[in-house]
Amino acid sequence: MKAIIPQPSQKPQPPGWQQALSSMVTDPMLLLALLNIEPQTISWEWNKNFPIRVTQSFIQRMKKGDPNDPLLLQVLSCPKESQYSVFYSKDPLRESKHNPVPGLLHKFSNRVLLTFTSSCAIHCRYCFRRHFPYEKNNPGRKGWGQALAYIEKRAEIIEVILSGGDPLMAQDEVLKDFLTELSQIPHVKLLRFHTRLPVVIPERINDSLINVLSRSRFQVTMVYHINHPQEINTEIANGVAQLREQQITVFNQAVLLHRINDDLNCLTRLSLQLYQAGILPYYVNLLDHVAGAEHFYVSREKAKILQRQLRNALPGYLVPKFVQEIPHLPCKMPLDLLT
Ligand SMILES: *Cc1c(COP(=O)(O)O)cnc(C)c1O
Ligand code: SF4
Repeated sequence: MKAIIPQPSQKPQPPGWQQALSSMVTDPMLLLALLNIEPQTISWEWNKNFPIRVTQSFIQRMKKGDPNDPLLLQVLSCPKESQYSVFYSKDPLRESKHNPVPGLLHKFSNRVLLTFTSSCAIHCRYCFRRHFPYEKNNPGRKGWGQALAYIEKRAEIIEVILSGGDPLMAQDEVLKDFLTELSQIPHVKLLRFHTRLPVVIPERINDSLINVLSRSRFQVTMVYHINHPQEINTEIANGVAQLREQQITVFNQAVLLHRINDDLNCLTRLSLQLYQAGILPYYVNLLDHVAGAEHFYVSREKAKILQRQLRNALPGYLVPKFVQEIPHLPCKMPLDLLT
């Protein structure tokens, strides 16, 4: 390893991914202006509770002048978000029941999920955690002790999943310190990240992060979140290649979204392009009934038809598992097992 010694006269520059964070767009008017879309030709609304948030890199992958662009529809707040029926709730997965210590969700016997940070570099309008009480559930460094003590006492826990928010919003130093502490617990063998950050800021996969991950003793898995083939570019593929060099497997989970990816052609191209970028399709999640996201909903019947069609259209290893989370069941449920 070559150490980089900063010259005394130089101010240390924050890494590129942090600069990308500081130039995120949070104003819908600006977003539409960048895309040459007249604000009166599209349905949108300010949303103070869950404001829009999108990186320049992601915006560059949107089609100019297209109000139906599938990437734009994922991030632009619209009036439909404030209209929802009684079937939609703020805690659709009843996660608060499985929340033994702040920041830790333990629903499935051998793995736990930690909400490692409380923010993301993008606000996906359909986000199932958009109402999650992150403030109460963002243990930060002070809360690690409690979460680690919980894991240490339970030898059945073999995997720790860092989620969020987005776990890669944490600085590499913070991740490194956490992994050092976690590696003291011998029964934890697997470490997983659920992240969308390398999709919206591909520079997040840099040498410093690779160093932190490759020096830990864990078998590391990344689960990206990409919903549409148009999100995939060469920079993402380059980052994946760096991870794979370190024997880190990269999977993808998508959410099935009305008007964005709920057709056979789109899902077929998604799987193929993911694979070409070095990523394996893992899950297609049915949307949880989260208040404000009803207009993205795709029925279970339609999802089942799509999965059947995909099985005919793709090699078996490129067909993602279509799953739905049912609050009281012990794993994400394959649609095939649900009526
Ligand atoms: C989704 C989820 C997991 C991971 O499930 P896998 O099927 O292993 O991908 C683990 N814990 C919680 C609380 C989850 O919501
Ligand atoms: S990146 Fe994930 S957690 Fe963050 S807003 Fe999007 S769906 Fe929600």
